Amino acid sequence: MKRDYYDVLGVSKTASEDEIKKAYRKIAIKYHPDRNPGDKDAEEKFKEAAEAYDVLHDPQKRQQYDQFGFEGLQGGGFGGFGGASMNMDDIFSMFGDIFGGHGFGGFGGGGSRRPQQHRGSDLRLKVKLTLEEINQGVTKKFKVRKDIPCQLCHGTGAENGSGTEQCPTCHGMGVVTRTKQSIFGMMQTQSVCPTCGGEGTVIKNKCSECGGEGIVKGEEVVEIKIPAGVAEGMVVNVPGKGNAGRRNGINGDIQVFIEEEKHSAFVRDGNDLIYNLLLDFPTAVLGGDVEIPTIEGSKLRVKIESGTQPGKTLRLRGKGLPALQGYGSGRGDLVVNISVYVPKTLSRSEKEAIEKFRDSDNFKGDKQTKETIFQRFKNYFN
Ligand SMILES: [Zn+2]
Ligand SMILES: [Zn+2]
Repeated sequence: MKRDYYDVLGVSKTASEDEIKKAYRKIAIKYHPDRNPGDKDAEEKFKEAAEAYDVLHDPQKRQQYDQFGFEGLQGGGFGGFGGASMNMDDIFSMFGDIFGGHGFGGFGGGGSRRPQQHRGSDLRLKVKLTLEEINQGVTKKFKVRKDIPCQLCHGTGAENGSGTEQCPTCHGMGVVTRTKQSIFGMMQTQSVCPTCGGEGTVIKNKCSECGGEGIVKGEEVVEIKIPAGVAEGMVVNVPGKGNAGRRNGINGDIQVFIEEEKHSAFVRDGNDLIYNLLLDFPTAVLGGDVEIPTIEGSKLRVKIESGTQPGKTLRLRGKGLPALQGYGSGRGDLVVNISVYVPKTLSRSEKEAIEKFRDSDNFKGDKQTKETIFQRFKNYFN
């Protein structure tokens, strides 16, 4: 059983971003692997907290989690986040914003510095879907312009396999230490090495194609699977398909923003579909069968009772849209709103036929109501 993210961090559901950050920092320090070498339990707790933090500190992920629970983040490639997809490198790469950019110095007595991996940025795409596509789920192809690994140097940034050498500025430490005199005595400050940007190594000969970055602009056709049941405003996250990271770093994600195309026959209401049926007058009066279109493309024969009033609603169970995977089950309904068509012009014979009903009390709506009220009035006093 996965533990609730708020429980993991020990914060309330209304905790501020700052409270979440503080809570996570405490747990991360307590269970940090450098402090608990070989302790599997501590490592699990460390990862669990990192996962909870990753979701709760991101307003978008947090909202999806609040609304849909774990499923909101995982189902059908949705959110693209599960415990398994988070490795230690991801966790350490998050520390930058938690510990203010100066890494995790001070634990384990050095020697545990991990090489910093560059993460490519995320790409955002918009896709407009028809209700038919939303009903079925759909795979869409996108041609995206993005950073891809440089072919010439295989993403290393180094010319002809020239490789890297230890950074001459920081001697491989990734950080530089300055000692300065202050009113408290000699103070040491550490900062990221300006020469290697914290990597500890520099490229001997920079690749002529990418200038040592390991990435170039390119195009890629990306296939993205969009699950059935998505709705306007949702975001489908596709991990690892965004911009390539510099020098064989970590790929960013693609975020696909869902838009809905207006449908000619149906209006969507959650997972229900609404269909407005304009019933002909004789069928409303006499009853009969009508055909109702479905989102699947087939027609449903539906019985109309005699004496059907305008404004009546029929609910065809399970003929609406499927629920998004991991968020409810089954399908919505097809709701048929009935109105009655009154012809605007009539032929002479039609007119004559209708005229015959004009004097019939049975056809006088106004009289029907009055009589009923009068009847009730009479019954009341009897
Ligand atoms: Zn350096
Ligand atoms: Zn290159």
